[in-house]
Amino acid sequence: MCDDGIVIDLSAMKSIHVDPAARTVRVEPGVTWAELSRELQPFGLAATGGFVGTTGVSGLTLGGGLGWMVRKHGLALDNLLSLDVVSADGSLLTASATQNSDLFWGMRGAGANFGVATSFEFKVHPAGTVLAGMALHPTSHGREAMRHFREFERTCPVEYTNNVVMFRPPAELPVPEVLHREGAVGIGGVYVGDLNDGERLLRPMRDFGPPAADIFRPMPYSEAQTMADFLWPRGTNNYWKSSYLTGFPDEAIDTILHFFGTAPSKRTAIVLEHDGDGAVDRVRPDETAFRHRNWPYNFLVTAIWTNPAEAEENIRWTREFWDAMRPFRADAAYVNYLGEVGDDLVRLAYGANYDRLVALKDKYDPTNLFRINMNIRPSRTKLQATA
Ligand SMILES: Cc1cc2nc3c(=O)[nH]c(=O)nc-3n(C[C@H](O)[C@H](O)[C@H](O)COP(=O)(O)OP(=O)(O)OC[C@H]3O[C@@H](n4cnc5c(N)ncnc54)[C@H](O)[C@@H]3O)c2cc1C
Repeated sequence: MCDDGIVIDLSAMKSIHVDPAARTVRVEPGVTWAELSRELQPFGLAATGGFVGTTGVSGLTLGGGLGWMVRKHGLALDNLLSLDVVSADGSLLTASATQNSDLFWGMRGAGANFGVATSFEFKVHPAGTVLAGMALHPTSHGREAMRHFREFERTCPVEYTNNVVMFRPPAELPVPEVLHREGAVGIGGVYVGDLNDGERLLRPMRDFGPPAADIFRPMPYSEAQTMADFLWPRGTNNYWKSSYLTGFPDEAIDTILHFFGTAPSKRTAIVLEHDGDGAVDRVRPDETAFRHRNWPYNFLVTAIWTNPAEAEENIRWTREFWDAMRPFRADAAYVNYLGEVGDDLVRLAYGANYDRLVALKDKYDPTNLFRINMNIRPSRTKLQATA
C-alpha cells in the first residue's frame, strides 16, 4: 500500500501454462511460488522460486529470486526467457534476449522501475522428489553447529542449497523440549538430484553434534519449497535488515548468537544464506541489472512481532544488532531483502550497474511514474531535486 499513489492489484491474474516438453512455464503476475510449485510438481518439474511459498512470482523475480535451487540453476531472473511489460506510456512490450533487450536487462533486477510485468516465461527444471529438511541444534551448541556449517558447505556440490536459520520453534512444532527452551540453530537445505547421492553427501552434516532433531527426509519439491513458510506468517509486524557478508568468522557467529539471545520477540528469525559457488556466479555481474553475484553469504535479520506496541523495542534491537554486524558486512545488499527504501540503499543494491539503470529509466520512464519502489531516479528528476 502507499500514500499519494495508486496500487495496481494483480492478484487475480493467476494463469499458469506448463509446456513439459519444452520445460518452460508461462505465469501471470498474481501467482505465488507455492501455487507455481504445486502446478509443476505433477510433471516432475520445478521453478527456481523463493525459499518460501507465500511470496509472489512477480516481485521476487523482478528483484532477483533466491530459492532452494539457486546454486544449481541460478536466480529466478536467470531463468526468465521473456516477459510482457506495460510501460509508463501504456505500450505493451515484450522483453527478451532478442526483443527490447535493454529493457530485458533492466527488468532482471530492477523490474519495478520500468513497467508493470503482466506475464513471465521461465525455464523450469527436473526436480521431482528431493532430500530436504533441517538439522536442529539448541543455541547452546550453536557455535559448533555454525562452525561446522561453514566448513561443510564449502565442499557441497551445486545440487545442495543450504542455509542457517535461527528461530524459536512454535509450540505446535513437535521437536525436543531443549529447542523450545533455548531456540534452534537450523542447518537446513534442499538436495535436488539423486537421492542416494544426497543421503551420502548430507550424512556428515546430519550426524554432526548430533543435532537435537534431524528432520531431513525425501519429499516432493513443492513441499520442500514451502517447508519454511511457518517462520514468516502473514499478518505480523516486520522490521528487516540485510546485506551480504564478507565472510563468516567466529566473531560474527558470536555476535549473532548474542543478539538472538536478546531478541525481544520469540517470532524473530535470523537467516544466513549460502547462495554462491554455483550458477549465480556463472553469470557476469553486468549481464543483468542484478549486480551482486560473488559474495559468500547473504545475511538477513527479520524481526517479527504481533503487538504494535512492541515496535519500538524490536526496531531498536534490530538496529543495535545491525551496528554490531558492521565489521562483517559487505557494501552490497540484495534489493528484495531491504526493509527500507532510500537512495543510498538503491546504490548499494545496484553497485556499478546503477548508471546504466539511470540511462534506461530516462528511456522507459523519464517522468518517474513508477517511483514507489527501490527507485532509480531518471537523470532529469535528479537535476530538479538538486536544483
Ligand atoms: C516472508 C518473506 C519471505 C521472502 N523470501 C524470499 C526468498 O526466499 N527469496 C527471495 O529472493 N526473496 C524473498 N523475499 C523478498 C521478496 O523477494 C520481496 O518481498 C518481493 O518483493 C516479493 O514479491 P511479491 O510479488 O510477493 O510482492 P509485492 O508486494 O506484490 O510486490 C513488491 C513490489 O514489487 C513490484 N512489483 C510486484 N509485481 C510487479 C509487476 N508485476 N510488475 C512490476 N512491478 C511489480 C512493486 O514495486 C511492488 O510494490 C521474501 C519476502 C518475504 C516478506
